[in-house]
Amino acid sequence: MTSGLLTPSPLPGFVEKAPLERYVSPARPSLIGLARAELAAVLDTVGVAESQRRMRVQQIWNWLYVRGATDFEQMTSVSKELRAALAERFTLARPEVVAEQVSMDGTRKWLLRLPGEKVGGPPHDVECVYIPETDRGTLCVSSQVGCTLTCSFCHTGTQRLVRNLTPGEIVGQIMIARDRLGDWPDRTPPDGAIVPQDGGRFVTNIVMMGMGEPLYNFEAVRDALLIVADNEGIGVSKRKITLSTSGVVPNIARAGAEIGCMLAVSLHAVRDELRDELVPLNRKYPIGELLDACRSYPGLTNAKRITFEYVMLKGVNDSLADAKALVKLLKGIPAKINLIPFNPWPGSRYECSEWEQIEKFSEYVFNAGYSSPVRTPRGRDILAACGQLKSASEKLSARERMTLRAMAMTD
Ligand code: SAH
Ligand code: SF4
Repeated sequence: MTSGLLTPSPLPGFVEKAPLERYVSPARPSLIGLARAELAAVLDTVGVAESQRRMRVQQIWNWLYVRGATDFEQMTSVSKELRAALAERFTLARPEVVAEQVSMDGTRKWLLRLPGEKVGGPPHDVECVYIPETDRGTLCVSSQVGCTLTCSFCHTGTQRLVRNLTPGEIVGQIMIARDRLGDWPDRTPPDGAIVPQDGGRFVTNIVMMGMGEPLYNFEAVRDALLIVADNEGIGVSKRKITLSTSGVVPNIARAGAEIGCMLAVSLHAVRDELRDELVPLNRKYPIGELLDACRSYPGLTNAKRITFEYVMLKGVNDSLADAKALVKLLKGIPAKINLIPFNPWPGSRYECSEWEQIEKFSEYVFNAGYSSPVRTPRGRDILAACGQLKSASEKLSARERMTLRAMAMTD
């Protein structure tokens, strides 16, 4: 087994962990997450004639992604024989939900258990968070178990074991959210659930901001997002899908060309020296190269901007001089700036900036013409909690952290 192997460092002090690609796949694989061509290949294996395949793929796609079928028996427009043949070898399973937490404001967090690398061995857990607002519902989705990168302020970066999620496990997170929220035709939300009240769908926005670096699991993330955006299926518009990256420069262009979703970049520092420390990937792809890749991102306009994330670290990157340099650096790029209060974790070496400092910083970037999402009332609530943080043990919950990030993302 190759678990947790450290790859030799290409640059001094820069370590990337190798993702584990081996894990026990279920005996009967799920059809969730297969592209149309793969679904056609599956139909071939169960004896569907070529002339019939396109039509059958279309039918099954509709059952999976428009109606949310969880059992082949529900597919009444598909012949009994085909249903039985499929059920013998495949499932419609989503990842296993081992815990669900619902907060007062309706935010929901699901802990998902994914297969590990050996039978009977430890499974892998990831989180998926749903944040409802009156006119939208945002789902924060994970792309990897752990992360190969080691950003010094990020808890995920300390996890040794990294596994790439499959397209099915990524699409599965959206399916789970819609199952649990009753977000399918003829289904209703559970009693007391808080969901958008505008008569539309409950999951309207997707942010790839959960665990992992999505651009280091490029193919799976791409394939999954293309399924999510397919307008004959789940149909979340690419404008409402945001992928957050720490700056994997070569794959930014690929994301633009092959996915076409919105982009968020975890900038966090305006000088290479500091960014090298906060986001060690900067040693490979420094700020200049990263911003060039951003400038070339296709389709940027004032209505379609890149979000630059900036975690507020007390005394590290939160001075007014930093704010000024940030505004200067982003000149000419259609950009939004997302200030994220640092969420401490046990053993972390940073503190969250003082609330007044975040306000000053935010005011500067706001006056420079950037929307300043931390100023939203709900963001303020959570920020207030952040401002009260006295010690690592009083940290924000993972749910609050993700809520805050995802809130700001879709503002
Ligand atoms: N790997 C990707 C996406 C997942 S992290 C990325 O780095 O962009 C999502 C966001 O949360 C990133 O902007 C990341 O820098 C930020 N983040 C990570 N740890 C954090 C912490 N402890 N407090 C606040 N933000 C954090
Ligand atoms: Fe990975 Fe993003 Fe955390 Fe950096 S901030 S370690 S890239 S998850």
